[in-house]
Amino acid sequence: MSSDVSWDLVIKGLQATIKPEEFNAWITSLSYKENDKTTITLAVPSPFFKDYILRSYKDVILKQVNLQLSTILNLNIVIDSQTSFTKQQNHEGDEVANKAKQRVLTEEDVYTKTSLPLVSDYTFDKFVVGKPNELAFVAAQRIADLSYNIKDKPNPLFFHGGVGLGKTHLMNSIVWEVKRQDPSKKILYLSSEIFVNLYINSLKSKTSDDFKTLFRSADFLMIDDFQFILGKEQTQEEFFHTFNSLKTANKQIIISADRDPSELEGMNDRLSSRLRNGLVVNILKTTYELRYGILESKARDYNKVIDKDIIDYLAHTITSNIRDLEGALKRLITTADLLNTEITLEMAHESLRDILKRQHVAVSPDVIQKKVAEFYNIKIADLISGKRARIYLKPRQVAIYIVHCLTGLSYQEIGKIFGGRDHTTIMHSVKKVKLDIIKDKAIDDEINLIIKIINSIY
Ligand code: ADP
Ligand code: MG
Repeated sequence: MSSDVSWDLVIKGLQATIKPEEFNAWITSLSYKENDKTTITLAVPSPFFKDYILRSYKDVILKQVNLQLSTILNLNIVIDSQTSFTKQQNHEGDEVANKAKQRVLTEEDVYTKTSLPLVSDYTFDKFVVGKPNELAFVAAQRIADLSYNIKDKPNPLFFHGGVGLGKTHLMNSIVWEVKRQDPSKKILYLSSEIFVNLYINSLKSKTSDDFKTLFRSADFLMIDDFQFILGKEQTQEEFFHTFNSLKTANKQIIISADRDPSELEGMNDRLSSRLRNGLVVNILKTTYELRYGILESKARDYNKVIDKDIIDYLAHTITSNIRDLEGALKRLITTADLLNTEITLEMAHESLRDILKRQHVAVSPDVIQKKVAEFYNIKIADLISGKRARIYLKPRQVAIYIVHCLTGLSYQEIGKIFGGRDHTTIMHSVKKVKLDIIKDKAIDDEINLIIKIINSIY
């Protein structure tokens, strides 16, 4: 007779060692079945889970189990027919079903489990709206509003912007809001990394039909951080088919990424053009006003009255993104609480030194144009103009290249700054200069010198 493993204890151990979002996404779907001296058997709702857990968590699970019973060397995972979304016929059938009565997963659970965990504060009412994110906010709200017909909604919605500007917050808000209105809606909300992993696992375990069934049955397919799918050609192909099938069935698709669809290099052209076909919204860098509003709102959440001077100071200095802004405010509030004092400007200077150091001053494209024009001894107007003579063409391409490297602006935005050029022209210029740099050491030196001149101003 071997003794039973206490699953509760194993879970506690796992919770302490695995990141919370992973724990929620994967470990909570496990249930204990039985164990003998050498093998522990667990159940999961679908073949994806089985593969993913065996691949990613087998060792940590066994390690926890071994703390109780060191003789167990094998992890056996069964698919619980009651919990399988494909309603696959399990031939042990009734017996398994009866045993599993305590823990019956519905199809809705499978959606929740496959999806990313949600953050309770990432809701529409906690999202502060300003010029840079207004369009994204309005589009997200429209999509979440089930009283509108899907045909009157942008589909797909593609929003893009730098880190910490609210993409994940908006994704979460859509899920919360749809669930509030209609809990039966099938929402699949994943990062593209998870999408890739699930797809690869389904190929390995020959369950790609299950994969297709799951993804093509969603009412909402939401993929966060889409850029990670780049270079995974087979997954892209599968995504393309999923996309088409959902779009034809009038299901909603929402995607976020760190860049515009036209800048997803290595993306298959058909997919890229489909993505551009819906609404593409750029979440822009924050403005002073938005930062001010966010600080006020977060201070209210903390139930703190913070001096206007302090808010003003933070809004002026912490410009990188909203995550840093939040972090700074939180740090100040905690410090003041600990010291049991009011927040002062001195305290802000002192305790935020590291965050402040990270705020690189953004290089302005105007300065780059000015310096490049000076360097080649031409007028700024000629740098921007359509003149094709070589004495203008080369400086123009160099300036475009440097703006691309130093400012983080998109090809489209750079196009606008250079006399309304098309983003493909900008892309071409950047590519051309990159090649020139590789081929010609003199060009490389020249450009490095110009960049040095520009950097010395900041
Ligand atoms: P991203 O996914 O674009 O990297 P997140 O959505 O994770 O950014 O946002 C980073 C942090 O900033 C989160 O804590 C989020 O709640 C907060 N945040 C972003 N935008 C806003 C906003 N407009 N109003 C309030 N908080 C915001
Ligand atoms: Mg995010």
